[in-house]
Amino acid sequence: MEFSSKLLENAVYEVSQLPGIGKRTALRLVLHLLKQPLERTEHLSNALLKLKGEVNFCKQCHNISDTELCEICANPKRDESLVCVVEDIRDVMAIENTSQYNGLYHVLGGKISPMEGIGPQDLNIVSLVNRVKEGTVKELIFALSSTMEGDTTNFYIYRQLEGLEVTTSTIARGISVGDELEYADEVTLGRSILNRVPFESSMKTT
Ligand SMILES: [Zn+2]
Repeated sequence: MEFSSKLLENAVYEVSQLPGIGKRTALRLVLHLLKQPLERTEHLSNALLKLKGEVNFCKQCHNISDTELCEICANPKRDESLVCVVEDIRDVMAIENTSQYNGLYHVLGGKISPMEGIGPQDLNIVSLVNRVKEGTVKELIFALSSTMEGDTTNFYIYRQLEGLEVTTSTIARGISVGDELEYADEVTLGRSILNRVPFESSMKTT
């Protein structure tokens, strides 16, 4: 792509570094911003800088939160004996949208993936095991996508929990293999949480 301006080229380059944004889309977005009043760009830059500079993660579940304990963890109406283990906050948002789940969450921050160099130590697994050791949690629901990385992560956590008094279950696989939770429709996702199965039996069938 040939640019008539170095400034334009730089802006397009930066935007195109975002996932799912190619050079053409980046150019369209940049030209759009260029046509808007300066405040648009200022608000956008400020919101992103503020987010990056001030973002907090819930000290219990690692969800993004403006407070030390997120709204879900701090809500006394939620069932604290039930913890749903998810990959990232998009999954929390997807499950919350179903209105079918009243427990808490634990956001791992990814999945174990040797290909991408992500090991157990890069994820929020130690804090999960410590949460279980505290004794309040009675059931963990694994809700990672059913990919090889998801299964590896579930199994790794399962092994870490050996000897601890906690039930493990996995969401029913109404969601087909490889589907990301985020994209599952709300009814299917809600049902798969209600119809969860013991983790041990899910291992035998796979
Ligand atoms: Zn929380």
